[in-house]
Amino acid sequence: MAPVERARQSDLRERNLAAVLALVADRTAGAGAASAPSRAGLAAATGMARGTVSALVDALLVGGLLEEVPPPPRTGAGRPAHGLRLSGRRVAALGVELGASHAVACVRDLTGAVRAREAVPSIDRTGPPAQVLAASAELAGRVLADARAQGLDVVGGAWALPGLVDTGAGTLRLAPNLGWRDVDVLTLLGEHPALHGLPLAVDNEAALAALAELWHPGEPADEAPGSRRGASFVLVTGEVGIGSGVVLGGRPLRGERGWSGELGHVTVDPAGPRCGCGASGCLEAYAGQEALLARAGLAGGGADDLRRAAEREDPAALAALDDAGAALGTALAAAVNLLDVDAVVLGGSCAPLAPWLAPPLQRELERRVLRARLLEVPVRVSATGADAAVMGAAALVLQGVLDAPAPLLSA
Ligand SMILES: [Zn+2]
Repeated sequence: MAPVERARQSDLRERNLAAVLALVADRTAGAGAASAPSRAGLAAATGMARGTVSALVDALLVGGLLEEVPPPPRTGAGRPAHGLRLSGRRVAALGVELGASHAVACVRDLTGAVRAREAVPSIDRTGPPAQVLAASAELAGRVLADARAQGLDVVGGAWALPGLVDTGAGTLRLAPNLGWRDVDVLTLLGEHPALHGLPLAVDNEAALAALAELWHPGEPADEAPGSRRGASFVLVTGEVGIGSGVVLGGRPLRGERGWSGELGHVTVDPAGPRCGCGASGCLEAYAGQEALLARAGLAGGGADDLRRAAEREDPAALAALDDAGAALGTALAAAVNLLDVDAVVLGGSCAPLAPWLAPPLQRELERRVLRARLLEVPVRVSATGADAAVMGAAALVLQGVLDAPAPLLSA
């Protein structure tokens, strides 16, 4: 075979492997083994020949990316076929969230299950970026060791960062809440011995949180299975800062440079308090964690302190949360009016505070969104809760495996 012809054949095989894997992932997402497709089902759905599909499935089984599900009990004539689903036995991915006041690392296997997780409640962010990143790399190293001890092959890692990220260059361009500017994150992480040889990526934490919501819809009872494909929502996330990820028609909306979603710097009141970005009256100055704690009289405390104060109906905490929810509603009404998304999803530090934030938020949406007179704008809590960004970071790597599985298989 001529070299060009051989390259074409290998391209075709890579695309077909990805197509088979994507179809299995799609058919079995959250729905369990009942819908696990057979080889014949895959052939029918892809239009490929049975023999071609069988060879691809065999390669994916041997590579540990798929596994067979025993057929249901025999009911009539004919031999029932084995179903196929993603395997959680081999391939896994590392996710790390480097927040302004905490860090979390997790390893998810190919089925999306979390196999190892560790959180450090407070990382000293006053040190130089190299030092803060090294602390996150050590955290990652411990989680990696846990996953590898379970026999998992961690194929890559991604860091969820607050602020404007250049994913191509691997740099954090601007993060007011960390006080960082133009930090070469990937180079600094790559030098750490705990991460030696591991392919790494960086992205914005809110964009990754939105990916997690798509990747792990959590099947809320009011959603039909498979509805994530056409999902559209604004997901609010963050802690000290407030970010958002927009998903339209099942696809993340990133903007020209991936710098969209800075909901925290949408103006709620031009005459409002000063924001860390230099402007005034930004959403973050009302609903960011530090602003919320200060207004609740809990400056220096944490998210748990605020939740506990709200649970015991502390008036200052309730007033701060009511103001924050209304400010979120004002900013999100602008987003819904502009983008016509179906729903608002609360993630990050907003998730555990949803019982107090959601009612005033909903009230503002009803008042300010034109469409709300025709169609409600539901507010719900992220399926991944406060861990949305770190779950999304691992999902970014796993999505890469589903898109291009061939390098993980022997030819
Ligand atoms: Zn601002």
